[in-house]
Amino acid sequence: MMHPRFDIDLDKHYNATVVIACVDCGHESRHHLKTLSPDHSLRCKCGSDISLTATGIMAAQRRVSELKQSYRVV
Ligand SMILES: [Zn+2]
Repeated sequence: MMHPRFDIDLDKHYNATVVIACVDCGHESRHHLKTLSPDHSLRCKCGSDISLTATGIMAAQRRVSELKQSYRVV
């Protein structure tokens, strides 16, 4: 299974948005981390599945806490 690449964005209220790049067309979709779940499949507008696995979501959550630490928000 292909793992989509993703990036994390924090807004000024430190809500995390996950930016997921489609492996097929490169289009980036933004999703609130809170709304992501491994059981919920996400589709790119090209029709590709860009869902994150449970492992991917955990990696995203870890990245968010690292970012918050670097902003000194805990
Ligand atoms: Zn796509």
